[in-house]
Amino acid sequence: MSRKTYYITTPIYYPSGKLHIGNTYTTVLCDALRRYKDLKGYDTYYLTGMDEHGKKIETVADERNIAPIDHVKQMAEETRALWDRLEISYDDFIRTTEKRHKTVVQKIFEQLLDQGDIYLGHYEGYYCMPCESFFTDSQLGENHTCPDCGRETDLLEEESYFLKLSKYQKRLLNFIEENPAFITPETRRNEVVNFIKQGLNDLSVSRTTFDWGIKVVSNPKHVVYVWIDALSNYISALGYGTDHDEKFQKYWHGDEVVHVTGKDILRFHAIYWPILLMALDIPINFRLHAHGFYQGKEGKMSKSKGSLVYPDTIINKYGLDELRYFLLRELPYGGDGVFSPDSFIERINYDLANDFGNLLNRTISMINKYFEGNITRQDEISHQADKELEDLVETTIKTYEENMENFKVSEAIKDLWRLISRTNKYIDETTPWILAKDTSQKPQLQNVMYHLAESLRIIGVLLKPLLLDASQGLFKQLGVADKYQTWASLSFGEILEFHVVKKPTPLFPRLDAEKEIEALSAIIRGEDDPEITPVDEDNLATIEDFNKLDLRIGKVIAAKFHPNADKLLVIKVDTGEKEPRQIVAGIAKHYTPEFLEGKKVVVVVNLKPVSLRGEQSEGMLLAGSNKQTLEILTVNNLDPGDGVQ
Ligand SMILES: [Zn+2]
Repeated sequence: MSRKTYYITTPIYYPSGKLHIGNTYTTVLCDALRRYKDLKGYDTYYLTGMDEHGKKIETVADERNIAPIDHVKQMAEETRALWDRLEISYDDFIRTTEKRHKTVVQKIFEQLLDQGDIYLGHYEGYYCMPCESFFTDSQLGENHTCPDCGRETDLLEEESYFLKLSKYQKRLLNFIEENPAFITPETRRNEVVNFIKQGLNDLSVSRTTFDWGIKVVSNPKHVVYVWIDALSNYISALGYGTDHDEKFQKYWHGDEVVHVTGKDILRFHAIYWPILLMALDIPINFRLHAHGFYQGKEGKMSKSKGSLVYPDTIINKYGLDELRYFLLRELPYGGDGVFSPDSFIERINYDLANDFGNLLNRTISMINKYFEGNITRQDEISHQADKELEDLVETTIKTYEENMENFKVSEAIKDLWRLISRTNKYIDETTPWILAKDTSQKPQLQNVMYHLAESLRIIGVLLKPLLLDASQGLFKQLGVADKYQTWASLSFGEILEFHVVKKPTPLFPRLDAEKEIEALSAIIRGEDDPEITPVDEDNLATIEDFNKLDLRIGKVIAAKFHPNADKLLVIKVDTGEKEPRQIVAGIAKHYTPEFLEGKKVVVVVNLKPVSLRGEQSEGMLLAGSNKQTLEILTVNNLDPGDGVQ
């Protein structure tokens, strides 16, 4: 039997600056949904990527004095490194500057032109000369000023191609009415319907005022504007329109296709994209989910307010599962959420450490104390409390599934925590410490232990898409074999016995709330620590001391994860000598091997060689670091073997 398919996408992100919690939420949400479908046995495919064209990128690259293509390459590498750090399970990362994408966009554009869905006309808008950009009425500041630089704009006309939205308006409305699940939440659907009913103007889909884009083949003074360029990524990445369109056939024409976006780009996905598909005669097979945003306590997060939260900072300090849990739990379905230091620390302490972590700890301790770590299912016994717990487990599995299918991930988590609370309450009801005093109650005591462990096992399976290390940690500590970590095993009583570890390890250590709220607030305000250590005037190095170090430029020719240590990478560096050097560096939490390959770094070559966990290390890379982050020192214009003074 062939498996059902599931194709899920994030929007492609626009690389003007460092990615923050907002883009991270979308990406983590898609990751959770994808892992959920994996758990259910689907054949899944997860696409994310970067939107790398447009005037703004040209400008930022100019400011940085580098070519746009180098700028976007760097942004894409940083973004991938962040997704790796977040253990995002994406299958493909598309960049709109890639050839595989460009050719498809050009082909689509010419086809629509040929069939008359795109025509040449004039675009009128408010134009800012210094910014070389058009703005719509709603984007402008007071007195028609430029929203980017504040200068006055001029009403100008530009030659532009247009896509005939009006032609498809009625068909799209019918489609939305016939497919109530097409756009969620419902409020967003209503927004879209109202917008279409006001009448759609044809959409300007090309520009002549900048170059950094995909050229229109039949009229190269035009570049394709963002709509057609960016939206097409969802099918170009699958090989649509090429000789290798197996993935397109399999996933687009498969069972489920899901686009997840923020509410700010709802219209593009709910109107322009389906109309493009109609014009191309491709079925609109997707469901669209447009979520809200995280805000700071005082409203929208912004750099100027000092309220931007960066995911790598949070992960380095508190851990990945902690961040995933908060993001997925706190954004309500259909609404916006607040990221505040208090609520973040409280969620860790109350939900993760107390309710969940502690339940696992207590259960394992009691199973060791009363049964030396081994218990079996007691089929003869059934009390009211057992029955109630079993029933809630079964209900929770059902509501969890329903919620996950409908993008209500925070609801699914709330349900899970209701079950966790109920399991905690079950301990109070059954009072194992009293049962333990009476040897005739031994079977009943074992029955209680079994109920706790089995409830936790099922909680662990349902947590798999959400918390990565914690679910694995739970299975390990409870001694749950792989076949009882599956969707098929989700039924109370499925497992016959448990052999738990001797000593439980807390999955989520409790934090000192007051101290951590203060520390996190300071980080978010951007006034984090650094207590700069003063120079030790009594212990100065001489130039001879410094000259003892032999520093050279090296080029990373290969890198891989250390086979026996999570934190280490094993790197081969060309330092201009006969043979490349092997260096073991503790930077695996900060860099992927792929990212390092080709980078030119600074190496100390005359360090005494050492063996680190079985791998020889013949040197050291120089890196800068603070509490949050670590960055290796790199150079651009030097060659392997060049000296460093
Ligand atoms: Zn301007």
